[in-house]
Amino acid sequence: MAGVRLPLVRSPKPMRATPLGLGLGSTSNMFIVTSVTRSFNVQAQAGPARLSRIVTAHGELETPAFMPCATAGTVKAVPQDILEELGAEIILGNTYHLYLRPGQQLIRDLGGLHQFMSWGRAILTDSGGFQVFSLSGLRKVTEEGVHFRSHLDGTSHLFTPERSTEIQIALGGDIIMAFDECTEHPADRSRTRESMEMTLSWARRSKHYFDNHQNEVPWFTSGGRRSGQTQMQFGIVQGGMYRDLRRESAQRTVELDFAGYAIGGLSVGEPRAQRLEMIATVLEMLPPDKPRYVMGVGYPDEITQYAAMGVDLMDCVLPTRAARHGLLFTSEGRVNIKNIRFAQDSAPLDPKCGCKVCSRYSRAYLRHLFVSSEPLAGVLNSIHNLSFYLDTMRSVRHAIGLGDLSGALSGKASLA
Ligand SMILES: [Zn+2]
Repeated sequence: MAGVRLPLVRSPKPMRATPLGLGLGSTSNMFIVTSVTRSFNVQAQAGPARLSRIVTAHGELETPAFMPCATAGTVKAVPQDILEELGAEIILGNTYHLYLRPGQQLIRDLGGLHQFMSWGRAILTDSGGFQVFSLSGLRKVTEEGVHFRSHLDGTSHLFTPERSTEIQIALGGDIIMAFDECTEHPADRSRTRESMEMTLSWARRSKHYFDNHQNEVPWFTSGGRRSGQTQMQFGIVQGGMYRDLRRESAQRTVELDFAGYAIGGLSVGEPRAQRLEMIATVLEMLPPDKPRYVMGVGYPDEITQYAAMGVDLMDCVLPTRAARHGLLFTSEGRVNIKNIRFAQDSAPLDPKCGCKVCSRYSRAYLRHLFVSSEPLAGVLNSIHNLSFYLDTMRSVRHAIGLGDLSGALSGKASLA
C-alpha cells in the first residue's frame, strides 16, 4: 500500500475561541464565544462525501472529523495543549461519567465544561444513554426513563430525556444529543420496534426540554454579553439491524427537526457488513443540509469508508484505548509494540508519520516503556494513535476538496 496514502496537510489552525481575560470574574480562563448564524455549510463534494464546516459557539470545525473521546473531561493520557497541536477541533465528553463525577452542578458553577477543562474549541456531549446500558448495574427501563445504579458506588439514579438534556445544558457542550435507548444486539423485530418507539418518544421529550431551556447554557452570556448562539441538539436514529425500521426511525426523527442526526445502536457486536448496510440505509434518509454523525466507530479504514459515504462526524475510544494496550495504528498497518522484534529497533514507529512521537523516539524505546509499564508509554502511544486518526481525516478532507477520494480509500484498505 506504500505510496497511495495522500500527503498530509499539517496545518493546525489557530483557536477561534481564544483564552481571554475580560476583566469580569476569572481572567485566566475565559473563552470568547463567537456569534454566528449559519451552523452548517457544505463546501465541496466528492460523490456522496462532503467537505463541510460546522460553526459552533467555540469555533468552527471542518468535517469529516474524528472526535477524540474525553470521557471524564480528559482524553486519557493526552493534555489539552497537545490535542490543540494535533489539530483536534472537537472532542467528546460523556454525560454519564461527568454526571456521576464530579457532577454537572460543580462543572456549571465553574463556568461549564470548556472552562473546567480549559478547552476553548468545540465539545460534543453524548446523552448518557449508551453508558447507562453498557456500564451501570441493575437498570430498569420504563417509559419515564432509566433507573440505574452507579458503577462507582452502587447509588441509585434516574435518567429521563429531560434530565439528560438538563445535564447536557449544564455541562455546556456545543453539540448535545437526544436521550436514546441503544438497542441490544441481537434483538428480534418486535423488541427492536418497541425500543425504536421508545427512542422516538424520548427524542420528542428531549427536544421539547431543549427548546424551552436552551438559554440556560453556562456560556449563553459571556463577559456580560449575550453570545447569540446556543447549543445544537442532534437526534439519534435507532432501529437495530432492520433496514425498514432504520428507515422509519430516520424519517420520524427527521420530522422532529433536529440540528443534526446521529446513527446510533452500532458497534454492538454486529458484523461489519451489516453495520455498513445500516449506515447506508440511514444516510439515504437524512437531509443533505444537516450534519450526520455515526456514533462509536471505528478502525482507521472504517472511518475513511464512512466519510466517503457522506458521514461528517465520528468518535471512538479505539485510538486511545488501543494505545494503552500497546496497539498502534500506522501507515504500514497495526503494530503491537510489545513484540520482541522491536527490542533493538532504532527506527521510528511509523516512518511516514510526522507526529512528535515518531519524530523523536524509536520503536525500541516505545517497547521498553510499554513492557516496563511506564506511564509515559500510554501518553506517547495515545499521542501517536490520535495523530494517525486525525491525519487520516485530514487526508480525507484534502481528497474531497480535490474531488477524488480513490487514493484515500485504497490507502486505508489494508489497515483493518
Ligand atoms: Zn506518529
